Amino acid sequence: MTTAPLESAGELRVGQLSGPYVAADVLARFLRADGRHVLFTGATADHATAVEARALRRGRSAAEVAAGFRAAIDADWQRAGITFDRIVRARRDRGYGRWLGTLVARLHADGMLATREGPLPYCAPCVRWLHGAHVTGGCPHCGAATDGTGCHACALPYDAAELTRPVCVLCSTPAEPLPCRRLFLPLERFREPLAAYWAALGTPERLTGLFAALLADRLPELPVGQPGEWGVPVPVAGHEGQRVDGRFEAAALELYGRGPDIGRPAPGETLHFGGLRDAVDHTVVLPALLLACRVPPEVRPRPRIRLSAAHGPGADRTWALDALNEFGSDAVRRHAVHGEGAARARAVLDGTWNHWLGQLFASVEELSAGRVPWEAPGGPGWPEHRRRLAHTVRLLRAAYGDGGADTFDPHRAVRLLDATVRMTQALPRAVELPQLAGQLSVAAALTAWAHPVMPEGARRLAGALGVPAGGPVTLDALTAPRPGTLVRPPSAPVFGF
Ligand SMILES: [Zn+2]
Ligand SMILES: [Zn+2]
Repeated sequence: MTTAPLESAGELRVGQLSGPYVAADVLARFLRADGRHVLFTGATADHATAVEARALRRGRSAAEVAAGFRAAIDADWQRAGITFDRIVRARRDRGYGRWLGTLVARLHADGMLATREGPLPYCAPCVRWLHGAHVTGGCPHCGAATDGTGCHACALPYDAAELTRPVCVLCSTPAEPLPCRRLFLPLERFREPLAAYWAALGTPERLTGLFAALLADRLPELPVGQPGEWGVPVPVAGHEGQRVDGRFEAAALELYGRGPDIGRPAPGETLHFGGLRDAVDHTVVLPALLLACRVPPEVRPRPRIRLSAAHGPGADRTWALDALNEFGSDAVRRHAVHGEGAARARAVLDGTWNHWLGQLFASVEELSAGRVPWEAPGGPGWPEHRRRLAHTVRLLRAAYGDGGADTFDPHRAVRLLDATVRMTQALPRAVELPQLAGQLSVAAALTAWAHPVMPEGARRLAGALGVPAGGPVTLDALTAPRPGTLVRPPSAPVFGF
């Protein structure tokens, strides 16, 4: 499972957290609990031009800006419970810069790169070449206002030189095009394998249209080097003073996350999480990079892509750290995949989940001296309730992606979890020990069933019941804790903090 690299040029917003990271983490947690091997990778794009642009605006060094935001992003990921197996930190990981430089040198030596001299926007007052985040202008394909890093509206790749009315981001001066010699990766020679790869991908419709638009024309040449001072130097004679292009590096970062050995096939099934524009790095730049290394991109099993929605929780511009501090990771993660708003998520957790658990803990104290009873689950309505939960957990497994990436629907998983709590709440209040054991078995089940979405609350609940958290999402989890166990209700609410 791969996620789009994140530029270390700002703190995370809830919208950025939701689509790729929380959704991917829900799936990773479910699969791991099921005993499957998962490699879940992420990266910080520390060499992004956005880092340098931010540094120039603040009068600081790009290295300081990258280090500061990388630490902030790491803290946000950690606080949100994102369990990456590997994070590539472009600027900090030893060996990465050398690996990338060697890769570019090898592609050049193998004749895969072309040197082109053409106009590139230049800002005379700033004495700076304008590409990536240093320049704004109109998308040459759809006309949308964009910058040199890529178009969020149509996502079709272009070079900064193709922007209409380019303007310097730093001083707002209209740029003047000056001739510049740069290295490019021409894609046309890979037309057939790329077309076959795109045809084999399990992609959302928006990307299918993009591939068709690309194939309708001569395939583009992707810039590999850009004149600048920030980033990994291009180790090719005649290109001194150039740095590896940001989009090219984004694809390379993802590749490095799988392991530095490019020739090694991708392990098993692959699933990528990211936005539309980043998905182009994954589906166009990355396979082209592999083909240039003479490694055919894997098509079996069919690689999958899950695009983050730009609406709903994906559009939430609240700072992730603020939301996490105010509402807790359970509520933010729930909102991130369900889209109800973090405050509302917290209210639902308090009003149903925590309310029911509070009553349950009180009943345990009242009826069983605070201990798990020895009686087996039972009482009025229990067999029927258990049958309904057996059905619910089958649906829940599907929503968690048991049947493959196509059935993965974390929004539905949240609804099924809510239904589980509401159905159990609707049972008559426990007055006898078998009823109490039944309700305790549902609580124990939730330490596994809710763990992929709300790991913190699931852990607190497991701690209260004396059971391990994060077990497989199965009907077997619907088992009361060991009889005689002292139930220790937490002092704070179970879910939502
Ligand atoms: Zn566009
Ligand atoms: Zn300028």
